[in-house]
Amino acid sequence: MSQQNLESLDVEAIREAFPILEREFDGEQVVYLDNAATTQTPDPVVDAMSNYYREYNANVHRGIHHLSQEASIAYEEAHDRVADFIGADGREEIVFTKNTTEAENLIAYAWGLNELGPDDEIVLTEMEHHASLVTWQQIGKRTGADVEYIRVTEDGRLDMDHAREVITDDTAMLSAVHVSNTLGTVNPVSELADIAHEHDALAFIDGAQAVPNRPVDVDAIDADFYAFSGHKMAGPTGIGALYGKQELLEEMEPYLYGGGMIRKVTFEDSSWDDLPWKFEPGTPQIAEAVGLVAAIDWLEELGMERIQAHEEELTRYAYEQLAAEPDVEIYGPGPGPERAGLVGFNVDSVHAHDLASIMNDHAVAIRAGDHCTQPLHDKLGVAASARASFYVYNTKDEVDKLVAAIDDARQLFS
Ligand code: PLP
Repeated sequence: MSQQNLESLDVEAIREAFPILEREFDGEQVVYLDNAATTQTPDPVVDAMSNYYREYNANVHRGIHHLSQEASIAYEEAHDRVADFIGADGREEIVFTKNTTEAENLIAYAWGLNELGPDDEIVLTEMEHHASLVTWQQIGKRTGADVEYIRVTEDGRLDMDHAREVITDDTAMLSAVHVSNTLGTVNPVSELADIAHEHDALAFIDGAQAVPNRPVDVDAIDADFYAFSGHKMAGPTGIGALYGKQELLEEMEPYLYGGGMIRKVTFEDSSWDDLPWKFEPGTPQIAEAVGLVAAIDWLEELGMERIQAHEEELTRYAYEQLAAEPDVEIYGPGPGPERAGLVGFNVDSVHAHDLASIMNDHAVAIRAGDHCTQPLHDKLGVAASARASFYVYNTKDEVDKLVAAIDDARQLFS
């Protein structure tokens, strides 16, 4: 880590790029701790998208006129920027999708439906988000492939001995979450990909909670597929990215058909354009791609290592205060490199939804519910949990407000 990266973030300066954080509700300034759901969008991202609409809005795919050419170049080059950001070889390996969920579905439909059969196994983890769990479960039902789950230990880690047992020569696909959105666990995804490859299986890594807050290198992980969403990393909604190894994407059939993804069409048949356009039919998310590039520029200027360090520090601070309360149960590993910037918990006497509602009375925004991990919640023995999740603009003062609001809720319900 360079010296520059060891310096901490200038949070006060960062917050100036987010006018939304100045909003007040009943005289209380908003404390936004729902970043694992969606992060806020800094002015440079909003400006880049607004500039696109003001200055060069046009459809892509290389119209002859100037505006279309400018929009096409920006859209195409956005793929290069994303590739560079996550260590992919080039634009051929980056497909823009609506979000992480659509990226999972793209691979499940384009690869899974064609490649899987009753002799195959799909291996997931017990901490998968529904984006992966429901998708592969349904593809399993349609193809006859079995779905197996790598166990989560009492302390919220993956049981890697069990991973070595369930990933076998019958495994065709391993789909694992890089960072759990419920437990905060940072999984050893490179090791998981290695185990999958030892058995000639492919590895899909869900990076929705990892790409926003730590350096990610898909090549170093040796993921076959990797997905993330723009709206969780200071970017716009409506755009996500799927990384796929070029040779795998080349072999796959398209998932959606239409204009913009073809090379030649006759009344009888059609052939497909080069990667990645083969997987991007119709008018794509042009303004959103421009916004995603602006978000990546903005994050890289802050430094991904510094962002990770900031989140680890805030998480440690929150974890230690919550862990000191005898009636608070925290899910997932303790603070440190195996825990990302979120804390999922329950308070004995207060239902998670009531807690979130009382927090809201203090303008503290947290999430309560199953966080799209119902089976994991079943395993934890709770229907719901509360989750505070942090980003670059959050402060220790805001964590103090969270803890004070918990006190308030406790008094109200005791
Ligand atoms: N995977 C994980 C780990 C997530 O946390 C989320 C969203 O919370 C998703 C996938 C789905 O992301 P999206 O709703 O952007 O498709």
